Amino acid sequence: MLPKEGRPISDILAQIDSLKEREWNSTDSRLWSLVYYHSPEVLEVARQAYGRYIMENALNPMAFPGVRFMENELVRIAKALLHAPSTSGGVVTSGGTESIFLALKAARDYSRAEKPHLAQPEIIAPLSAHPAFDKAAHYLGLRMIHTPLLPDGSADVQAMEAAISERTILLVGSAPSYPHGVIDPIPAIADLARKYNLLFHVDACVGGFILPFLEKLGIAVPPFDFRVEGVTSLSADLHKYGYTPKGASILLYRERSLRKYQFFTYGSWPGGVYASASFAGTRSAGAIAAAWAVLQYLGEKGLIAAAQAAWDTTQRIRQFVENTPPLYIVGKPNATILAIGAYPPADIYAIGDELSKRGWHIDRQHRPPSLHLTVTVGHARVVEAFLQDLREAVQIEQGRASRRSWQRKLLRSSLQIGMAVLPQRWVRGLSRWISSSARSNRPPRRTAALYGMMAALPSHTSVEKLAEDFLDKALEA
Ligand SMILES: *Cc1c(COP(=O)(O)O)cnc(C)c1O
Repeated sequence: MLPKEGRPISDILAQIDSLKEREWNSTDSRLWSLVYYHSPEVLEVARQAYGRYIMENALNPMAFPGVRFMENELVRIAKALLHAPSTSGGVVTSGGTESIFLALKAARDYSRAEKPHLAQPEIIAPLSAHPAFDKAAHYLGLRMIHTPLLPDGSADVQAMEAAISERTILLVGSAPSYPHGVIDPIPAIADLARKYNLLFHVDACVGGFILPFLEKLGIAVPPFDFRVEGVTSLSADLHKYGYTPKGASILLYRERSLRKYQFFTYGSWPGGVYASASFAGTRSAGAIAAAWAVLQYLGEKGLIAAAQAAWDTTQRIRQFVENTPPLYIVGKPNATILAIGAYPPADIYAIGDELSKRGWHIDRQHRPPSLHLTVTVGHARVVEAFLQDLREAVQIEQGRASRRSWQRKLLRSSLQIGMAVLPQRWVRGLSRWISSSARSNRPPRRTAALYGMMAALPSHTSVEKLAEDFLDKALEA
């Protein structure tokens, strides 16, 4: 509520602190998603730099030449790391979603100029591509075609080739994919792009600021950047493995001439000639200053050390999982993201719930059911405690799984007789669960039942409707 009289700062900050008590602590590395935390020192650098640029606006690049300098530097740094040629051009955006949106807008407007006869241009992306592509395609009136994955979690290039038609304008590959941490065969997709004269976007949102440093460490990183002929654009998020505050990503184009298709200009406004390079109008200069400052503070050496720690921690977890049945690693990850599954009758979501009870925040994935870990330098400090809890969680679930197997048999036979009624009842139960957890102030902890039901829903349209409902209820106002 807007108070009638202003409140004293001590009062306001006390309330903020009490609100923060409800949140997951973003600096103790018990979250395995959402937060990329480096160290108290890096946090302080970001805070100081952000604070100094808290009021400036990056909308107009001419108004704040200091902001423009930092923005250009960020793009130059990314170009060098990702081997963009001298003909390339880039922009700083607010995040991966905006970078992907702009890459698709550029592709759409370029194809409008080159192939004006196309009524609805198409994008071909492996199933593992981030939903930001679907979101952008939805906004831009493009059609998304998803192709299946190979058993190792990478894009099936043959399936991508089979999906190409005269309506195709752009192919997508991830380096790595968010769900399974797998780098798609970028050179093979690039060959397709060249053969059919298509644009090709590499989504290195999560990998762009760690893969180059893993490579410098001598770790085998499959080719993914502009060294691969045929890659026409690439996105790389600073606010992930660049360890910078939220609101900073880079989009690069091999040719500057393609970049201008993402711009928007309008000359008839009484307010003057309006020109905007990216999606947002007013933009936070704080995020740009903080990103620039953090990269200056860490330098190449600091980022290599961070990459090494994240890599070693990933290998430690991977080795543990591979030696701990019924756990398994989904696909063949080649960076610092892991998806952990469990062979039946063990239920990986129930293992996740045990970990949640022990204070770990881990995202659940489906198709196949798995827990998702984004491993950062911060996790090096907590990995042994995590594995200890994982070991316990597995033991508890093993005991339960054997007790549960007779119940499952019963459920399966009742499913066969009651297929028409049962899913509907489950949907109702699920709806109730969703409304109650959306209203509560604490993040939901028990999810095994939820995902179990999601997997059993008749089609995914209903999951999407439920998700829509969830958002509507969570955003109360
Ligand atoms: C995070 C991510 C995105 C989306 O980026 P946001 O910064 O969340 O908008 C896209 N692709 C991949 C692979 C990602 O990891």
